[in-house]
Amino acid sequence: MNKPKAILAFVALLSLAAGHFLRQETRVDERVLLRELAPDATFSAKSGSPPVYRSGQGLVAFNSYDVTPSVRGYAGPIKVLLVLGDDGRIRGIKLLSHRETKNYVHYLETPAYLGRFVGKSIFDRFEVDRDIDGISRATVSVEALAKTVRESSRAVAGNVYGLQAGVGQAAAAGDWSWAWYAAVFLFGGTGYVLTRRGRRLERMRDLSLAAGIVIIGLYLASPFSVLHVFNLVLLRPSSSLLWYAIVGSTLVSLLVAGRFYCGWLCPFGALSELISRVPLRKWVVPPEQDDRWRSLKYVLLTLATAAVFLSGWVDHGNYEAYITLFAFHGNAFAWTLVALSLLANLRVPRFWCRYLCPVAAFSAVLARQDPLYVSRHDCPMGNKPDPETGECIRCNRCYHPK
Ligand code: SF4
Repeated sequence: MNKPKAILAFVALLSLAAGHFLRQETRVDERVLLRELAPDATFSAKSGSPPVYRSGQGLVAFNSYDVTPSVRGYAGPIKVLLVLGDDGRIRGIKLLSHRETKNYVHYLETPAYLGRFVGKSIFDRFEVDRDIDGISRATVSVEALAKTVRESSRAVAGNVYGLQAGVGQAAAAGDWSWAWYAAVFLFGGTGYVLTRRGRRLERMRDLSLAAGIVIIGLYLASPFSVLHVFNLVLLRPSSSLLWYAIVGSTLVSLLVAGRFYCGWLCPFGALSELISRVPLRKWVVPPEQDDRWRSLKYVLLTLATAAVFLSGWVDHGNYEAYITLFAFHGNAFAWTLVALSLLANLRVPRFWCRYLCPVAAFSAVLARQDPLYVSRHDCPMGNKPDPETGECIRCNRCYHPK
């Protein structure tokens, strides 16, 4: 299995380098969009610091990224074109670009949703779920959009019209999603350490998997994904603490404890394992065939990596069934993949984790071999003796300390 990993690493580096030279930012003509937003107004050329378009009709327009470039969503800045009146009210808004995962933000992109910002004043609080509608399962992106509009509008209103709204008036307070994630991670991590010392607490793993489904999957809708890794490599980190909690904890745990995330926290892995416990006779996949099929996840991730790094579009590498499932959004193909991947567990335990999962393939590249994991008859991954690093999800059933 080392060859697929080496090819994956090689293609990743090559496509990253090639993409650096090939990628081109799509330029949007802001003046054309301004004609749609304020058809009766005539705007000057963009000028000043921050740069704005001014009109004789008491309007000013600007690209939020020119004003507040540091505000980021889940995958970099969400850029909007805003038109502001001299009373500090928003008169128009257009989404220019973003790199958020489409499954989560499809509603945020619609004129119906963006239109709710029109008429808001810089003196409003722009608090999600209070004066700004939240979007279930897209909290980080919605918070980022609200903050982008609020901070950029206040800065421009202050600069151009001398209007001053209280700095920090709206709170990001109350976003404890990172703490929920950290709590599940700590619980699972504790179980991992304890079950390496003895079998008595094996039930902790079931509890950790249940917490993964309920909190990471259903509540936070934020399973770890290779899209996090793509964004990290493309230098598009989020400004969300949840993002750092997910990426930081998973990368550290990968180096220390291999695929601990997959075996203790992943909500899709947990669902797969629960389904595989239904007492139906399992198919015995011949070892050679099993090995061949396990290589498929490396092939898929290699193709996705090349597509993402060459195009710069992280969504081009999105085939992760757990995103569709926990975002509650996807096309017919994506939902079919979810259904088949879950049903397949009735016959082949952890089907997705074994053969298709990009997180599994990525993890296998970073995880180090541990000879104390020898596998056994009830291995949830169906591993043969002395399994490959990338195939062991560290359930600790077979752990044999010297
Ligand atoms: S090899 Fe051992 S620790 Fe790894 S998944 Fe199988 S039984 Fe669990």
